[in-house]
Parts: sequence; structure tokens; C-alpha cells
Amino acid sequence: MIIVIDGPAGTGKSTVARQVARRLGFSFFNTGALYRLLALWLQKEGISGSDQGAIAEALVRFTYEAQTVSGGERRYFLQGEEVTNAIRAPDIALLASEIALYPEVRQLMTTIQRDFGQKGDAVFEGRDMGTVVFPDARVKIFLTASSEVRAQRRYEELLRTFPALSDSLSFEKLLAETKERDLQDTTRALAPLKPASDAIIIDTSDLSIDQVTEKILHRALRYRRYSKMHLPYRICYSIARFFFKTCFRLKIYGLEHFPAGAAILAANHASNYDPPVLSISCPEEVYFLAKISLFRVPVLGRLIRLLNARPVSGEATDIATLREIISLLQEGKKVILFPEGARSQDGELQPLARGIGFIAGKAKCPIVPAYIDGSFAAWPRGKRFPKLFGHIQVVFGSLIEWTEDEKVPKREREEKITARVEEALRGLKKWLEKGAKGLPP
Ligand code: C5P
Repeated sequence: MIIVIDGPAGTGKSTVARQVARRLGFSFFNTGALYRLLALWLQKEGISGSDQGAIAEALVRFTYEAQTVSGGERRYFLQGEEVTNAIRAPDIALLASEIALYPEVRQLMTTIQRDFGQKGDAVFEGRDMGTVVFPDARVKIFLTASSEVRAQRRYEELLRTFPALSDSLSFEKLLAETKERDLQDTTRALAPLKPASDAIIIDTSDLSIDQVTEKILHRALRYRRYSKMHLPYRICYSIARFFFKTCFRLKIYGLEHFPAGAAILAANHASNYDPPVLSISCPEEVYFLAKISLFRVPVLGRLIRLLNARPVSGEATDIATLREIISLLQEGKKVILFPEGARSQDGELQPLARGIGFIAGKAKCPIVPAYIDGSFAAWPRGKRFPKLFGHIQVVFGSLIEWTEDEKVPKREREEKITARVEEALRGLKKWLEKGAKGLPP
């Protein structure tokens, strides 16, 4: 899936795009940096920004390298020399804006960007991503903010990157430059800066980076939900979701924590409703194990089969069952597990079995803790028939990463991770009880 985030300088685009990419496990492409790299390279080559002919000829020689470091930060190099900070200089920004007017330059940049887009899920940030480069992108966002707010953000960012500029940098000059660049970007004949007709416009003047990120993630997760499901699953998912949303006012929190790729979804277990409720709370297809007897329950049996349930005859710790779980995870799938082992008698969380740590270690995948509230009241253990009305909430917590640490014995590592899951589930329960404010822990 391609997500594009366009907008003028100083709207927080880069930071937001990087955060969105990190949270979704997507790659991130800052296309402004590409224009800046070319601008700096031309300057180093001694080619003037106004010499369109010379620039067009030189383009075949342009190469650069980019590296992603921890936290998703990108470092850039021209002929082996690091230029990550150098391309941020104000004169390079203006030169980038000048050369961005030339069709030959835009053509090359578009080709590089589309090639990158072929490689998989990515977030692209720029000016013409939604209108020209990726007109079919699934999610298109256009960020705006008043020129004063944007110039102020630029001012602070420049002071952070180039503290030596503190005497020469003036807010008024930066505001004028921002306006000049806006004018150049919005009025150019080719790929002018404007929102695509199907873009969602977000004014970031009074929003924090985190608030903007949440808004975009919300959108992105909605599309991701349907794009990856095969048809029978999708139909079943939609019907079950409608049922739980209508009859149980199902509320889902913390989808921002939902990672890409393999993961164990570790939830508390108090009701037969838990597996389907948790499945339809996830934004993509997930797998779970269910006792063979459940497949014989009318309606529920059919529902869970279509929702990727795998039958197990005995305990969840059977060798065959463990193998099944681990192989699903190794294929990059998400698997729901209920680490308490059996449904709770009273709805309260019971101590977890160490098996969850063992599986995480074997499959080397992260764990997403998920707390389900209200399912016990809807269908407690021992009751043959469920209630058809009530209130159910599901909350996903932050990822618990499996870490390889050869110095700590394996068994101890498994115990540690199990304890972390239990602690996380208790934390999520508390978060719900305290009114579900902000991002779940
Ligand atoms: O986003 P950033 O400020 O780094 O971009 C530098 C300049 O590159 C912009 O002012 C704009 O003129 C140009 N640019 C562009 N199209 C893009 C990205 C940047 O024209 N997709």
C-alpha cells in the first residue's frame, strides 16, 4: 500500500510521515530530500540552478546513497560524503525549489520515486505525490498550516540543525522565504503544489505531531483492514463486526500499536466470544486456535471456521498445536493466543502460562497484548447460550519485542516475557477503568 503525504514546508510532513511509516512497518521516502540532494550535487558540480540545459545534461551522472538508521532517520551521502545536514541549509532549499521547475528534473525524480514504490508498502512525502507520482495511492493526505506557524517551525528546526546560524537567522527573513517558496511551488506550471481532489486535508496549525500521526494512521488502518482480506473472510468479518458493533457497541482502542508482519496477539480469555471479537477488532486477517467442540456450535462454528480458526483437539501446549502456531508465525501471519490457558471462571485475569514466552522465542516475533472487556458478562463460562446485547471493548497495547540475549538462560527469558505480557494486560485493564484517555500503554 502506498500512502502519500503532501504539503508545503513546515507542516510537520517529514516527522509525521516518518512516524506513520514506523508505526505501520512501511518504508519511508522523503522526496524533498531527493530534490535537495540534486540541488547540492549541482552546486558541488559548479552547475548554476538557472542553467536548465546543463542541468538536463548532467542528470545522467547524478547518484546518491541513503541509509536508514534506528528510529527511521535517514542519512544521505553524495559520492561517499555524508550530506544529511548540508542539504537542510536554506540556500539548498531555495535551489531545490528552483530546479524543481524543470521537466527533466521532475521526470527523473518521478522515475526514482516510482521505482521505490514498486518495492512494497511505503509512505511518500512531498509536493506532487498524490497528484502526479502516485495518483492511485490508497491514502492521500495534504497537510497545511498558516505561513507564520510554518516559518516559526522552520526557524526552530534550523536553529537546532545549525546552532551557528543563531545570529544571522531572522524569523522575518524566513517568513519571507517561506512565502517565496510557496509561491514558486504553487504557481509553477509543472506539478504545482496542490491537494489531489481525493486527498484529505489536515490543518496542522493547532495540532501536535502525534495528533496528526493518529489521524493519518486511523485512515491508513481502515484501508489496510480490507485490502488484505480474502473474500469469504472479509464477508464474515463485516457481518460479525456489524453484529458486535450494533449489539455490543464494540469499541476498539490502540490500533496504532498494530504492527506489520508476524505477531502474537496475546489476550485475556473469559468467554467464547473472545476469539471472534478479537479477530474482527484487528485491521487485517488473523488466525486463532479453537477447540474442536466449538466448531460444532451452530452459527459460531461456521463463523470461526471462516475467520481462520484452526481446530485443536487437546491442550494448547500439545506439540502438534505448538508446531501449527509457530509455522503460522513463521509465515508472517498474526496468531491470537490466550496465554491463561483456559477461560477464566470469574472474568478476572489468571496467571499466564509460560508457553507464550516459549512461542515468541521460537518464532522470534513480537507480542501485541490485547485486553478484552465485557465479553465475560456477555457470555460467561458455564452458560450455554450467550446474551445478545451488552458492551464489549478491546484495547491493544504497545508491542512487546522478543529480544535475543544469549547471556540470560532461555527459560528465564521466556518467563520474563510472559511476566511482561501479564503486566501489560493488567495495565490495559487499568487504562480502560480510568476512562480510556489518550494512547493505551
Ligand atoms: O520538502 P522540502 O522542503 O525538503 O523540499 C525542497 C523543495 O523541493 C521544495 O520547495 C520543492 O520545490 C521541491 N519539491 C518538489 N516536489 C517534491 C518534493 C520537493 O518540487 N515532491
